[in-house]
Amino acid sequence: MQELGAAGHKLTGKRRAIVEILLAEERHWTAKEILVKLRARFPAVSFDTVYRNLSLLKQMGLVHEMVLGDGGSRYKLCYSQDHHHHLVCLGCGQTLEIPVCPMQQISGMGLSCKFKITGHRFEVYGYCEGCSSP
Ligand SMILES: [Zn+2]
Ligand SMILES: [Zn+2]
Ligand SMILES: [Zn+2]
Repeated sequence: MQELGAAGHKLTGKRRAIVEILLAEERHWTAKEILVKLRARFPAVSFDTVYRNLSLLKQMGLVHEMVLGDGGSRYKLCYSQDHHHHLVCLGCGQTLEIPVCPMQQISGMGLSCKFKITGHRFEVYGYCEGCSSP
C-alpha cells in the first residue's frame, strides 16, 4: 500500500478494497473477477461501482487497462508512474512492463498535422517462460 505513494492515501472504502484485490495477485483481472471478490466484502456492490472506481484508479495512474484479443478489458495495478506498456501472457495472465513507447517513433513521423492523436493503446500478447515450456 505504501508503495502506491501519495495517491494511495486518497483511497477509501471500495476503491481501497479494489486496490487490495489487485495487490493480492500479480496478474491482470477482469472487472467481473474484481466484482466477485469485492462482493465478499461489500455484498451490495454493483458492476457500475466497479467500473467507476476502476476508471478513477486509471485516471490516478494506479491501474492499467489492457484490452486482450477477445476484446475484453483487464486491469492491473502498476507501481510505475512513468508511461509504459505491457507484454501480456495469454496463459497465466502475468504481465511484464515494456519501458519504451512506440508512440515516440510514430509522433516523429509527421502524422500529427493530418491527425489529432488523443490517446493510444499498445499491448504485446504471447506466452511467458512458464507457459511456453511443456
Ligand atoms: Zn503498467
Ligand atoms: Zn504465463
Ligand atoms: Zn505509449
